[in-house]
Amino acid sequence: MILDNLYRQVIMDHYKNKRNFREMQGENIRKVHYKNPTCGDAITLFLELEQDRIRRATFLGEGCSISMASASMMTELIKSRSLEGISNLRKAFEKLIREGETPEDIDLGDSLSLQGVHQLKARHNCALMTWQALDKALKDEAEYKNFT
Ligand code: ZN
Repeated sequence: MILDNLYRQVIMDHYKNKRNFREMQGENIRKVHYKNPTCGDAITLFLELEQDRIRRATFLGEGCSISMASASMMTELIKSRSLEGISNLRKAFEKLIREGETPEDIDLGDSLSLQGVHQLKARHNCALMTWQALDKALKDEAEYKNFT
């Protein structure tokens, strides 16, 4: 119960004080729109790629607290990481939400606080939306495995 409250606080903090909530422009910036049809959440994700890594990630969007918190958490989690490393985070997060399985060897950072969403099946897509946007942005990158 204490843990639940702690997690809720982390989620609400990201929702109210969204990290990296701004657009980016430039030649190296990749931009994708994504919409979650089940909840009406919408996101625009901006990625700054540098060879096989993501240097920075930002987003704009509107939606429920889960979707916005998840996007805020993801932009923090993936920055300065290799595409291969991000692919592993992506898999671990999908398992956390869909199967309720906490990863043992992968640190999901604040995104771990969304594990309670597993019990809310109708909200799975809210948590996963931002990662699905990432899939769309990186679908042509060999180091990043696709989840479609
Ligand atoms: Zn939602």
